Amino acid sequence: MVSERELLESVPTQLWIGGPVDATGGATFPVENPATGEPLTHVADAAPADALRALDAAVAVQDEWAATAARERAEILRAVYDRIVERTEDFALLMTLEMGKALQESRNEVRYGAEFFRWFSEEAARIHGRYQTAPTGTGRIVVHKQPVGPCLAITPWNFPLAMGTRKIGPALAAGCTMIVKPASATPLTMLLLARLCAEAGLPEGVLSVITSSHSGAVTEPLLTDPRLRKLTFTGSTEVGKTLVEKSAHGLLRTSMELGGNAPFVVFEDADVDAAVSGAMLAKLRNGGEACTAANRFHVHNSVRAEFTDKFVAAMQEVKLGPGSDPSSTLGPLINQDQLDTVTELVDDAVAKGAEVRIGGKAPGGQGYYYPATILSDVPEAARILREEVFGPVAPIIGFDTEEEGLAAANDTEFGLVAYAYTRDLDRALRIAEGLESGMVGINRGVISDPAAPFGGVKASGFGREGGFEGIDEYLSTKYIALP
Ligand code: NAP
Repeated sequence: MVSERELLESVPTQLWIGGPVDATGGATFPVENPATGEPLTHVADAAPADALRALDAAVAVQDEWAATAARERAEILRAVYDRIVERTEDFALLMTLEMGKALQESRNEVRYGAEFFRWFSEEAARIHGRYQTAPTGTGRIVVHKQPVGPCLAITPWNFPLAMGTRKIGPALAAGCTMIVKPASATPLTMLLLARLCAEAGLPEGVLSVITSSHSGAVTEPLLTDPRLRKLTFTGSTEVGKTLVEKSAHGLLRTSMELGGNAPFVVFEDADVDAAVSGAMLAKLRNGGEACTAANRFHVHNSVRAEFTDKFVAAMQEVKLGPGSDPSSTLGPLINQDQLDTVTELVDDAVAKGAEVRIGGKAPGGQGYYYPATILSDVPEAARILREEVFGPVAPIIGFDTEEEGLAAANDTEFGLVAYAYTRDLDRALRIAEGLESGMVGINRGVISDPAAPFGGVKASGFGREGGFEGIDEYLSTKYIALP
């Protein structure tokens, strides 16, 4: 395994547009280590003109890439998968350094993120349409799928690799070119990926990465350029809404993977130990900084005390510390803003009457640390029940009937994922169908799977990533009428 310094010195820090290039004027911005608050390195700070250079490159090779045999595209994707897996330790350390999460979490993300290249290498060869005789008998209908064209992907910091690969894999498999604008907090992982893609044989211009500290200004000229055909975004609902408005200008195809506020519902017939294990995963995966993180725990009053005690005992085992220390199981939050938000939401709940069962106070000092926290008896009025906490905090509230539990779970503007624990099959089916979310985990605390369609409803957005559905987001349907 390379040292942190060697790794940082070897990672590209220029923009990637047909290869490494400087930003206009040579501007750069710092990338910070959340474990220390110190800068790790500097990366190129793209100007709007650089974004247009990337679009020029994407447009120049779009037709050729679309015409490349699906099998050839598939083999390049598969070669990228192999290279990511070979460099698991480098990607893991890099993500831990720029994003903060514990090394084991980063390794899990490398496996998950790489898988989108393998899955979509397999899907590239299965893009199909149909041929049918018109019901009137007067002609034939041919349905043909074609790549939508040059795409822009804007990604968040919480999964620096996987939120990119979930978009790049299907786009390239479908025959689209893509420009990625990663989060300014975590640009290094995407730059390393771009280099690996080039090494794996991806032609120049098919994938560009533009890192920038002023994302609105740098993406604006792309969204108003008629050559761009699709915008795919993962991030907050607030920014997603702005981008949907901007994308109306060019009537772009859009996919929006937005915020979540996942309920975790434990019924009286649940296996409480299994529910606690699931709760640990649903809450602490990625340090709680996941759109799929359970945001609130609705527990039937007859098992609430048992569930809470066991959940507290499990949380006591969590070791908070620098992500790069192999003994840490919980790393720091991404930045001071996030630490302030988590602190504020906990303080608000406590001021309104919630009881802190464990954690509840940042240790202070260097880095953006917040401990694993459980709040019980959280009152309805607490903001934490409505807002995405994006940290290792679990608020618990009780309910008495199935109807009450379901209604409380659905009482949110968001609808990404919901979790439910019950041993009753009829109830499981009723609840799965009644939950207003794009995804449901029954007796499961982690649901993400590259082979399954990931996405939300309501304020959590639209579009699906992964599964058979994921590639459709990058294909348009053409109907050809024949005599
Ligand atoms: P964010 O603030 O919305 O930022 C996401 C991306 O958008 C970043 O690259 C950001 O760039 C960029 N951006 C911000 N303002 C922009 C603008 N005006 N124009 C163009 N781009 C802009 O979200 P975040 O804090 O990085 O990520 C956390 C959020 O993502 C949470 O709400 C989480 O639930 C959501 N998320 C959803 C999913 C899902 O699949 N549904 C998955 C992961 C995360 P900068 O970094 O430069 O600000």
